[in-house]
Amino acid sequence: MKKAYFFLAITAFGINVFGQKTIDQKVSELLSKMTLEEKVGQLVQYSGFEYATGPQNSNSATVLEEIKKGKVGSMLNVTGVEETKNFQKLALQSRLKIPLLFGQDVIHGFRTTFPINLGQAASWDLALIEKSERIAATEASAYGIHWTFAPMVDIARDPRWGRVMEGSGEDTYLGTQIGLARIRGFQGKGLGNIDAIMACAKHFAAYGAAVGGRDYNSVDMSLRQLHEIYLPPFKAAAEAGVATFMNSFNDINGIPATANKYILRDLLKGKWNYKGFVVSDWGSVGEMVPHGYAKNNKEAAEKAILAGSDMDMESRAYMAELPKLVQEGKVDSKFIDDAARRILVKKFEMGLFDDPYRFSNEKRQKEQENNQENRKFAREFGSKSIVLLKNEKNLLPLSKSTKTVALIGPFGKETTANHGFWSVAFKDDNQRIVTQFDGIKNQLDKNSILLYAKGANVDDQDKSMFAEAIETAKKADVVIMTLGEGHAMSGEAKSRSNIHFSGVQEDLLKEIAKTGKPIVLMINAGRPLVFDWATDNIPAIMYTWWLGTEAGNSIADVLFGIVNPSGKLPMSFPRTEGQIPVYYNHYNTGRPAKNNTDRNYVSAYIDLDNDPKFPFRYGLSYTKFKYSEMKLSSTNLKGNQTLNISVNITNTGNYDGEEVVQLYIRDLVGKVVRPVKELKGFQKVFIKKGENKTVNFTLTPENLKFYDDELNFDWESGEFDIMIGTDSQNVQTKRVNWLK
Ligand code: BGC
Repeated sequence: MKKAYFFLAITAFGINVFGQKTIDQKVSELLSKMTLEEKVGQLVQYSGFEYATGPQNSNSATVLEEIKKGKVGSMLNVTGVEETKNFQKLALQSRLKIPLLFGQDVIHGFRTTFPINLGQAASWDLALIEKSERIAATEASAYGIHWTFAPMVDIARDPRWGRVMEGSGEDTYLGTQIGLARIRGFQGKGLGNIDAIMACAKHFAAYGAAVGGRDYNSVDMSLRQLHEIYLPPFKAAAEAGVATFMNSFNDINGIPATANKYILRDLLKGKWNYKGFVVSDWGSVGEMVPHGYAKNNKEAAEKAILAGSDMDMESRAYMAELPKLVQEGKVDSKFIDDAARRILVKKFEMGLFDDPYRFSNEKRQKEQENNQENRKFAREFGSKSIVLLKNEKNLLPLSKSTKTVALIGPFGKETTANHGFWSVAFKDDNQRIVTQFDGIKNQLDKNSILLYAKGANVDDQDKSMFAEAIETAKKADVVIMTLGEGHAMSGEAKSRSNIHFSGVQEDLLKEIAKTGKPIVLMINAGRPLVFDWATDNIPAIMYTWWLGTEAGNSIADVLFGIVNPSGKLPMSFPRTEGQIPVYYNHYNTGRPAKNNTDRNYVSAYIDLDNDPKFPFRYGLSYTKFKYSEMKLSSTNLKGNQTLNISVNITNTGNYDGEEVVQLYIRDLVGKVVRPVKELKGFQKVFIKKGENKTVNFTLTPENLKFYDDELNFDWESGEFDIMIGTDSQNVQTKRVNWLK
């Protein structure tokens, strides 16, 4: 209590005891000096893409002039000390010298790139994920960047949607924990520190639920589902102090997210009391015109600002229309003030008014150009993101003294493909990225031979390279096939209806298999693919996503057993596209399917098993883990008691290894139907061969809460199944009674 009074006293009237003004006070003073146009200027963001080669078109020349007039608040895609300094200089020519904010998509690394985000999620390792964002923030801030448009915390249950590669998969709990780890990593010890950048929770909201998995498509769902599955990562991000939010392109039940008053004003800025600012997605204000929600840019600007979108990314609608809308009385100036205030607060928090160039520092940039420590980490992170799906007769790990190894497939000698979709391209990428070929070569004994044949292109029907690949395979003792989908076939606007290997790669695989050589298949992809033939016919399969700068080394570390794979799938892998969406935390029906491999699975197809090809959290290790029977502190609980759950796990194999232990619950009968399983906790533990560890979890009634049909968030007395297991299908279960 005392503390609260003290705090009130020191900040009374916006001035603290040391006579310094608070940020709020400084912003109020600044706002009082600003014209309406200058305030609107703070709400405007342009892209600097077109300036890379100089301001040659009239549009860019206009933008440069606008910056000098204080009509631009932020730029995106302006990277590097020199570039950011040049732009900042223009802003400092404006009347009030308000500095620009520089935003950039720093999505899975910056100079050093890490596995694509879905691959990172497969590590189930929050500490590694946080550290990777810490590194990304340190590198990006040294290049003058203040703000990343990440993390993407959209839950996604449809692998046809290209952007699954940028998220953490299908589960709300996992997605929330990962989102928080990323925010901690980006924002570090807090805004204002020289290596902290502002994070952005995107895309608000439900972008991952686009109908048919088609990017940007409509989302039509119950509010209950929205609150239970899609909003929790955003709510948690807001509570954790994420600096910004970004709108999504989709409409939610008919209202585009950019002008969705319910999610922006009522929830985010209302109930959740969020103090940061909301940036539109690229052009999403203006896109409400073709979307059919505004008759022109003017109406779009009006609807977006009133709903709570603070900054207009690239629609060029706010500057053109908001001043007029205020003068005509259609938009109250308090909305402009509120949006400008939120943005200016962040500029103060970042220390930009003290020194607008503080992030653009040659020395720091130089240190981060090719940071060896960061690369070392990228190598480790890459190997921990790999998921081993099959390993018949322990074909893996390979021996380093294998006489002749053949690497076959279109990705073997690729460089930038290993980055995956979202990366800032740098001139020296080709030399910096460790190819898969080089990574494998680095590990093989000097006397071993590594052959290579491309075999096929990523995405055409050309089979002319097959013959050479078959001849190459014939010469080898082991063949490593590197197949999948092109690195730019997942990502934004990259939805696919056919999620098999692209082009003729599967035919190539079948031809190589005819040689009878043992094959290790390495699948490169940004999403779960469908590869039934391979699963049934190829003895060893590992999923390598896109692993970043050190991809080749990370892959080789797992291939040769230097690292024991511990990755687990963050999404269910469908048997065919027709099975989509398939996810672990579904409801039952009143008529559960017959002949079911998973007794909980629902409404069957007559021509397909109900369970996915590989379930959520599936992944093998070179060792084996044996679970003891789980112990519960009680099976009859009352009120706010805590349930302690423990299980002992023994590493019974021949390798040290890591296991992801998971806790699920099922609420057997509810006011509304509850999922057959819900993830409530996980721990990644390292266990030496022959040793064991006890893992403890706790559950409280807080973990039993759900949204009912009137959006009350509460729990009910009743029976609950408590499940612990090695993947979402293989679990042991105990039942408890829990009374209110
Ligand atoms: C994407 C965002 C991204 C923005 C800026 C948009 O098209 O949807 O996620 O941050 O572009 O590049």
